[in-house]
Amino acid sequence: MTESTPVLSVRGLSVRFLMPGGRRVHAVTDAHFDVAAGECLALIGESGCGKSVLASALLGLLPANAQTAGEALLGDLDLLAADERTLARTVRGRLIGLVPQSPAAHLTPVRTVRSQLEETVAALTGTRGRAALRAAAQAAAERAAFPADHLDRHPHELSGGLAQRAALALALAGDAPLLLADEPTTGLDRDLVDRTVDELRRHVDAPAAPGAAHGTGRALLMITHDLAAAERVADRIAVMYAGRIVELADAAAFFGAPGPRHPYSRGLLQALPDRAFAPIPGLPPELGDLPDGCAFAARCDRATDACAVPPATTGEVACHHPLPAPGRKQPRPAPPAPEDIRA
Ligand code: SF4
Repeated sequence: MTESTPVLSVRGLSVRFLMPGGRRVHAVTDAHFDVAAGECLALIGESGCGKSVLASALLGLLPANAQTAGEALLGDLDLLAADERTLARTVRGRLIGLVPQSPAAHLTPVRTVRSQLEETVAALTGTRGRAALRAAAQAAAERAAFPADHLDRHPHELSGGLAQRAALALALAGDAPLLLADEPTTGLDRDLVDRTVDELRRHVDAPAAPGAAHGTGRALLMITHDLAAAERVADRIAVMYAGRIVELADAAAFFGAPGPRHPYSRGLLQALPDRAFAPIPGLPPELGDLPDGCAFAARCDRATDACAVPPATTGEVACHHPLPAPGRKQPRPAPPAPEDIRA
């Protein structure tokens, strides 16, 4: 893990949705993680596990029936406590650059890429004057490897890859210290996935622009269910299951040796076609109807009576019986009787 001060520090972040009839949906529970400058943290997990809700909480884009707890510090600013005016004026675009899931939905269809870039640059950097804006928009396009001779095209005239680059150029326009990429590779073919995540990585590794508020470069929080993309780009992995981060690990150790330590993380990797191609049995629980103990217990072959108590989420692995740590041997727990496994 990078030693420098985190760009983003999340402690005890929880999100609840209050539903009609008094029902509460536990979308995110007690999330703890840091992302340092020059680092990419990939937050992985199945669809519906709470990853994108966490991203919305950081951006202040939760619906009105959401309640949050904990803190998410971006520098000195607690994103969870910030008011909408602060979030709109100083956070979105300026402190957090959002790389969207669907570039097509993010780009305005009736305007050229150049005009959208110029408007964004003006709003985020205060650049004024036609020539200065034109130059700044071209520089933003260049940073995202968007070709200058396509700047006067409309979004529907772009290939999927170029639309993604246009969206990236918009995300980079404010030179934000944190890039938040929410499923940035959805719908792309493998070649385009590789190019997109390589592009993101390049911006994490690039030195900060002279005079930038973030002295040591950008941090990237990438939310994805694409494990191959995560393996390609990430320094560290955070695994989310049923609203909780169940494992935080060095990416090389996670995807290589010794591999994941949480049984769910191991199951995710084993489900990949180029590994065991063995899906995890069963389905995740509803976030509005979580069991009292470990939410993975009904699907876990290591579950015991101890798992009736939820494991702590403040360490590296939220599990009562994790797989052995590097260099340590740990006996496998005795197989449980079926009635011991919590439904
Ligand atoms: S706490 Fe128990 S049920 Fe949950 S993942 Fe660990 S071993 Fe399995």
